[in-house]
Amino acid sequence: MIAAREIQVEKIAKSRLADTPLENIPFGRYFTDHMLEADYAGGEWKSVKVVPYGPLQLDPSTAALHYGQAIFEGIKAYRDETGNAYVFRPYDNWERFNKSALRMNMPTVPEEIFIEGMRKLIGVDKEWIPTMKEHALYIRPFMFSTDALLGVRPSETYKFLIILSPSGPYFAAPMKIIVEEQYTRAAPGGVGFSKNAGNYGGSLLAATEAKEKGYDQVLWTDAFEHKWLQEVGMMNVFFMMDGVAVTPSLDEGTILAGVTRSSVITLLQEMGIRVEERRVNIDELLAAYGKGRLTELFGTGTAAVIAPIKELRYKDFSLEMNLDKAPVQNELRARLAAIRSGAEADVHGWMWKV
Ligand SMILES: *Cc1c(COP(=O)(O)O)cnc(C)c1O
Repeated sequence: MIAAREIQVEKIAKSRLADTPLENIPFGRYFTDHMLEADYAGGEWKSVKVVPYGPLQLDPSTAALHYGQAIFEGIKAYRDETGNAYVFRPYDNWERFNKSALRMNMPTVPEEIFIEGMRKLIGVDKEWIPTMKEHALYIRPFMFSTDALLGVRPSETYKFLIILSPSGPYFAAPMKIIVEEQYTRAAPGGVGFSKNAGNYGGSLLAATEAKEKGYDQVLWTDAFEHKWLQEVGMMNVFFMMDGVAVTPSLDEGTILAGVTRSSVITLLQEMGIRVEERRVNIDELLAAYGKGRLTELFGTGTAAVIAPIKELRYKDFSLEMNLDKAPVQNELRARLAAIRSGAEADVHGWMWKV
């Protein structure tokens, strides 16, 4: 077993922090001084180390570049006034990462590397965690196959890395969404529940075409009827109907089990709001809207946290949501912010101290 203290650290000669203004820093563009790097070969993980952030050298035949064994996670860390660093629910991400790994026929990553590696890396680059309001350090663990071979088979070697990116407030502008009726993100038996790179690659064209039509994102539907609702872009989706929060269930394996989704379900229940995880289709939404019973639509995910939806388009119908009256999503957003900042007691143990 590898404990955090045993992970070797090779420090950068001179930190870049002084040259990187953290205030309002854009999402995902700047990276900290160090990264965690671990290699898998011969059936085991070896050489786990923290090294200066920098380019990787890869053989052009690197398997992941051709056959797509590549998975990732997205997590956020915060720092309080006293300098303590906290990560939001990292064990949930670790578990999900390993589910993605198994589906993609990749080795799992043990806690000693994923969690303890994260602890070690954040410890080294702690000063990079922005302390300004609504700022965070975005944590990106990822793994890909590294065999240098064009034969199609699961790779025998893999690289696991964690990189860190300070980020400013993510302004979740109210979104205009169009129901996707041509492309499919996920089908039963597929890889929709895994956070693999290919799911993102396969979704970009739909988002681009939605933008050309004047929308921000698509609402994904099932592969067969294009009626059953799945996710909004790369976020989970919630519908407030008749005071009940409805979100698509995870049963078919077509939906990514978001950590924010799970947190939101817990908070909704605490707020006394009934939550239904079930199949939900566009006709039900249209009918509820027609009767004035559809009151809120929103997306959930680590980057935007709670993303308001102001318009949903389906064929000739346009569902306009009044965001001046969006009490549920506003309360969820405020409570999650309060838990992160320490203003509200963390009764669920979501904030993991580094
Ligand atoms: C990452 C992701 C989400 C959100 O998951 P969180 O754990 O809440 O960040 C939702 N849908 C898809 C497709 C995703 O990749």
